[in-house]
Amino acid sequence: MGSIALKSVEKWFGNVQVIKGIDLNIQDGEFVVFVGPSGCGKSTLLRMIGGLEDTSRGAIAINGTDVTDHPPSKRGLTMVFQSYALYPHLSVAENMGFSLKVAGAPKPEIKERVEHAAQVLKLTDFLDRRPKDLSGGQRQRVAIGRSIVRDPTAFLFDEPLSNLDAALRVEMRYEIAKLHQKLKRTMIYVTHDQVEAMTLADRIVVLEYGHIAQVGTPRKLYESPANLFVAQFIGSPK
Ligand code: ADP
Ligand code: MG
Repeated sequence: MGSIALKSVEKWFGNVQVIKGIDLNIQDGEFVVFVGPSGCGKSTLLRMIGGLEDTSRGAIAINGTDVTDHPPSKRGLTMVFQSYALYPHLSVAENMGFSLKVAGAPKPEIKERVEHAAQVLKLTDFLDRRPKDLSGGQRQRVAIGRSIVRDPTAFLFDEPLSNLDAALRVEMRYEIAKLHQKLKRTMIYVTHDQVEAMTLADRIVVLEYGHIAQVGTPRKLYESPANLFVAQFIGSPK
């Protein structure tokens, strides 16, 4: 249910082309990581998939349906960002259930979904707290919880861990891997961190200024990089 297909996708900002004709087929349930240097177009491509940026040329399909002109709300995807703006005046449970409430979901259903998400993310004991009384990792979990309650077809993550300190990043990386195992949903994950890419991905897409330098399993990229750019990027974790 969560396959995503990009066909000759391009993005122009004015007369500057930042995405230069990308073809990519993502399978249902796959964990795909976009890596590449700062400014190479990772966020733009992810936002195009999510519908937050329009597609200048080419087409995007989800489960075989062309969604190129669909607004974000009609795509069934959810995005998790690095800045996880939670509502400070709402509890953890209310933050997680907010979008369902806005959508008019019945209270018992909201409660059930929030409790399920809290269980998956080990937030059950924190449901009544305010965001200010949580650690950074817990806040990031709440942000992910907001996405889980909506039962999306796919999760789009844009450097979700880059604001966390190194130890927490490792812990959350592990949590995200477990989340993928549990939910078995398609995940597209943007990072500039090679270690994150190598440990999380089923397949890595290496972006080089608007085009794909190589796509493959972490092992494939590590053992047979297509060119020097990929070799330097994958082979030299900071
Ligand atoms: P990354 O996420 O890989 O760091 P981005 O997708 O954010 O890269 O940016 C890719 C390129 O597109 C950059 O050169 C950036 O300056 C440019 N860009 C991104 N958003 C806009 C915008 N709204 N208007 C003009 N240029 C943009
Ligand atoms: Mg970015």
